[in-house]
Amino acid sequence: SIDVTGVTKRFGDFVALDDVTVTLPTGQLTALLGPSGGGKSTLLRVIAGLESADSGTISIEGREATHLPPQKRNVGFVFQHYAVFKHMTVAKNVAFGLEIRKRPKPDVQRRVEELLELVHLSQFSHRLPSQLSGGQRQRMALARALAVEPTVLLLDEPFGALDAKVRKELRDWLRRLHDEVHVTTVFVTHDQEEALEVADEIVVINEGRVEQVGTPDQLYDEPANDFVMGFLGEVT
Ligand code: ATP
Ligand code: MG
Repeated sequence: SIDVTGVTKRFGDFVALDDVTVTLPTGQLTALLGPSGGGKSTLLRVIAGLESADSGTISIEGREATHLPPQKRNVGFVFQHYAVFKHMTVAKNVAFGLEIRKRPKPDVQRRVEELLELVHLSQFSHRLPSQLSGGQRQRMALARALAVEPTVLLLDEPFGALDAKVRKELRDWLRRLHDEVHVTTVFVTHDQEEALEVADEIVVINEGRVEQVGTPDQLYDEPANDFVMGFLGEVT
């Protein structure tokens, strides 16, 4: 599991995370859901090690990680505006993390083939990212994040910039991918419907605090407070 304990993060006087304690179970697909500015990305970045907490601790699969740099946390991440290497082919993009880790060439090639199959991009391996659709590019980014076999996959609104139909396709596809790979995944969204349909469990975050943690059914049937009820009530 990912264990976040008493994490507070300030930007100047502004408290972005206010004493957040939450456990994200191993092998589960968890959504961080909440309104814009609520602290979702900040929490994800603190888990990834891209921001350091002012107080509190982070442990990843039983390993104390609070002071580890991102590259030692064994996390893979995909952000909304993910920096893909525009001059590299799809296969090269996916291979990148393996090559900088100096894995043997035949192993890299085999792994890239497996991953491209997993994200249904095998026939596009020699294309450049600019020759892919937005959804295909995000799938490539996911393959790249998965390449180094992270213990944890962190996704910050990975489908945010895409149109509704493609978002829905990718959402269903992420669910199937997760059922196949079972890597502990934390997925940020401000879209209630997306969280309710995809996640095993949802963490509702607002104004830097955890309002509720529960399965989609639990959130629907027993919202912890007016905020959760109101926010879920906005589902169209
Ligand atoms: P969104 O859905 O819009 O992405 P979010 O829930 O991801 O929102 P965060 O990005 O975590 O929200 O931001 C939480 C709060 O912290 C916001 O008010 C934001 O302005 C502030 N914040 C985030 N990063 C910084 C920073 N580097 N410097 C100052 N304030 C920041
Ligand atoms: Mg955000």
